[in-house]
Amino acid sequence: STAQIGVTGLAVMGSNLARNFARNGFTVAVHNRTAARTTALVEEFGHEGAFVAAESAKEFVDALERPRRIVIMVKAGEPTDAVIREFAPLLEEGDVIIDGGNAHFEDTRRRERELREQGIHFVGVGISGGEEGALLGPSIMPGGSKESYESLGPLLEKIAAKAADGTPCTSHVGPDGAGHFVKMVHNGIEYADMQLIAEAYHLLRDVAGYSPAKIADTFRDWNRGRLDSYLIEITAEVLAHTDAATGRPFVDVVTDAAEQKGTGRWTVQIALDLGVPVSGIAEAVFARAVSGHADLRTAARGLAGPAPAALAPEAADAFAAQVEEALYASKIVSYTQGFHQIRAGSEEYGWSVDLGAVASLWRGGCIIRAAFLDRIRAAYDARPDLPSLLADERFAEEIGAAQEGWRSVIAAAVGAGIPVPAFAASLAYYDALRAERLPAALTQGQRDFFGAHTYRRTDREGSFHTLWSGDRSEIRTD
Ligand code: NDP
Repeated sequence: STAQIGVTGLAVMGSNLARNFARNGFTVAVHNRTAARTTALVEEFGHEGAFVAAESAKEFVDALERPRRIVIMVKAGEPTDAVIREFAPLLEEGDVIIDGGNAHFEDTRRRERELREQGIHFVGVGISGGEEGALLGPSIMPGGSKESYESLGPLLEKIAAKAADGTPCTSHVGPDGAGHFVKMVHNGIEYADMQLIAEAYHLLRDVAGYSPAKIADTFRDWNRGRLDSYLIEITAEVLAHTDAATGRPFVDVVTDAAEQKGTGRWTVQIALDLGVPVSGIAEAVFARAVSGHADLRTAARGLAGPAPAALAPEAADAFAAQVEEALYASKIVSYTQGFHQIRAGSEEYGWSVDLGAVASLWRGGCIIRAAFLDRIRAAYDARPDLPSLLADERFAEEIGAAQEGWRSVIAAAVGAGIPVPAFAASLAYYDALRAERLPAALTQGQRDFFGAHTYRRTDREGSFHTLWSGDRSEIRTD
């Protein structure tokens, strides 16, 4: 028993994680249901470090030093349960099972509970960064017990991405499902970020009249400023790419129907359960759904709308500068909503998640890595009880400076008949929060009218009901 860590499930993610551990000097036991994958990994990459190839589960478990640390990197869902059922009987008290797959946090909570009875630590770990991240350094969001992090943390900190200041992009997020929950919200924010960038592209293309190549340059330019992020960087790459077969911009030959694997949908489903308004993320999920409904789109193609009209070149550049403001302001809102959801989940499940630490571990390795996360971390470090990112002075100031441009861009989009659901939802959230009075008062009146649901008054304590079908006098109901 010489291996410090074991990885079972050696498809692309598992292989790359195993290689990452080995490259960082750990002895890694490797195992896969189909043994051919194990052999192939060691043959091809054995020279990168110390691997112990195990054909059977028993061999795998025996190869590990105690307490054992086993990373499961198989298809999420039932396959993960199958692997747990196979390994759990072979393990001993104090051993740690790590699930690095994209599990739903409720499954992680269940598995943690079941294995705890056996004295086994179950750690659900969110991993972001795709294949390349797994190999070169992902952002890692571990849940599970504090005790398990003591045994596991030093290894994860070694293989994780490092932020610009050298800090590893991992830290203990909180008990049981906290890591997978935070990974889920990460993916929701990723959906929103991507949709916002897509809306900015649409406006630069059809209102500013820019070519894909010019938009690529614009995004490169933005990437040198406050929008500096991985997603902006790769957007420029995609837009600058020319299709080899046709010589046309790549973006013009790709089918415009966006697919999804489901983590964005989970974010919205859970947000609905928690009562957290993640409207930007929800619009991003719905925008993908709309794009995929070919039948509805064909049926609606002839509907009336404004004639296309691009701006004159002089006006186009000024408009582009406003699109940058709209993008930045909307991005602040989607992170505000995502962090609100993490806070709400943390309260619901008793996780005590440190929001500043979450912002910190997203600074490198993951898909939403961005310079801007440094500022979110600073905001929560300065005030851990910050009720909302919009309450942070610096963000409030920046969004205040951007709001005029933000409104103009949305007005221009509406005028031109260009859908900007995520921009518009983000602005509506901002305006709703800052409003002195909301029409929710009227909603309460309607509810009381048809359902006697009662209401509260601004000037007196208590619950009230108006006798709408009687003499319309008011009675106190509490
Ligand atoms: P896949 O999700 O394609 O899963 C393939 C692996 O699962 C193979 O090793 C396969 O073994 C194993 N497997 C499937 N069913 C079973 C079973 N019933 N019993 C035992 N083993 C089984 O692999 P990926 O590498 O793409 O992803 C692994 C996990 O990481 C997934 O949960 C995924 O959601 C998550 N993830 C993926 C990312 C990505 O960019 N791809 C990013 C972050 C997380 P066999 O070879 O025998 O078929």
